Amino acid sequence: ASKHTRLPQWLKTDIPTGGNVTKIRKTLRDLKLHTVCEEARCPNMGECWGGGKHGTATATIMIMGDTCTRGCRFCSVKTSKNPAALDPLEPTNVATALAAWGLDYVVLTSVDRDDLPDFGSAHFAATVNNIRQMAPQMMIECLTPDFLGRPELIEPVALSGLDVYAHNIETVESLQRMVRDHRANYKQSMFVLQHVKQTKPTLLTKSSIMLGVGEKDEEVLQTMKDLRSAGVDIVTLGQYMRPTKRHMKVHEYVTPEKFKHWEQVGNELGFLYTASGPLVRSSYKAGEFFISEILR
Ligand code: SF4
Ligand code: SF4
Repeated sequence: ASKHTRLPQWLKTDIPTGGNVTKIRKTLRDLKLHTVCEEARCPNMGECWGGGKHGTATATIMIMGDTCTRGCRFCSVKTSKNPAALDPLEPTNVATALAAWGLDYVVLTSVDRDDLPDFGSAHFAATVNNIRQMAPQMMIECLTPDFLGRPELIEPVALSGLDVYAHNIETVESLQRMVRDHRANYKQSMFVLQHVKQTKPTLLTKSSIMLGVGEKDEEVLQTMKDLRSAGVDIVTLGQYMRPTKRHMKVHEYVTPEKFKHWEQVGNELGFLYTASGPLVRSSYKAGEFFISEILR
C-alpha cells in the first residue's frame, strides 16, 4: 500500500483543473500576482475561484514579497532575515490588476516583515486604499501579521477602507511556542484583534484555529471564548496538513463530526459566523459567506 493511504477519505480532493481555474491562472501570470491559493496548492481553488453557489469569486493574494522574516513550524513560505526590499509600485499594481480581474472578494495577506521599521503597515494600508479607489464594489479582507502588537501600526490598516480584518491565533495558548515563530504569541494576537475592534467597531474581525496539532478540547473551547471576549465576529477551524517532511507532524486527523461540534460551539458562543471543517481554511469561500450572511 502507498504511504498516502493513511490520509482519511474526507481529506482527499481532486486537483482543480476546470476551465475557469485554468483561465484565471493565465490571467494571474500575466498580472504577476501571487496567490496563496496556488502556492499552498489549496484544495478549495475550484470552489473559491469559481464562486460557489452565490457566484462570489474569491482569491487570496500575497503582498510584500514571497519571503518571510519569521519561521512558523506549520508554514511552507520561504524565510530569510533580509528579504528583498518592498516594491513601491506594488500597491498601485495590485489594485490595477484586481480591478481588471473583476473579482468579487479579495483576501490580501502578506509575509511578516520584521526587517522593516513599520513592519509593512503603511504598504499594507496603501494597497487597500488603492483597491478601494479603483474597485469600489470589491469586498476586501486583510489577513495581517501581528505588527508586534503595536497600536500605531495596527491602526492604519484597520482604518484603510477594508471590510474584514483577519488575524490568526493559529493554535491554543499552550502550543504557541511549538507551532508559531517565537516572536508571535497568544496574548499579542488577541490584543491585535481586540485593538482593531476598538479602533473601528463596525469592522468585522476574524481569526482561525488549526486543529490536529496536539490541542486538547478544553483548550480549543477556551481559545474560542477568548476570541469572543476580544470581540471577534468570525472564527474558522480547519485541519493542519503538513506541507513537507521538514514541517511539524500532524498529531491527529480530527473527524468531520468533531468539526461539526466546534461549529455548534461557535454558534452557541455568539460568533456571527463559524466555519469549521477538515478542509476549511482562513479564507475558505470568504466571499460567498459575506454576500449571503452579512449583506442579506
Ligand atoms: Fe508563515 Fe506567516 Fe509564520 Fe511567516 S509569519 S512563517 S508567512 S505563518
Ligand atoms: Fe484560495 Fe483561501 Fe480559497 Fe484556498 S480557501 S482557494 S487559499 S481563497
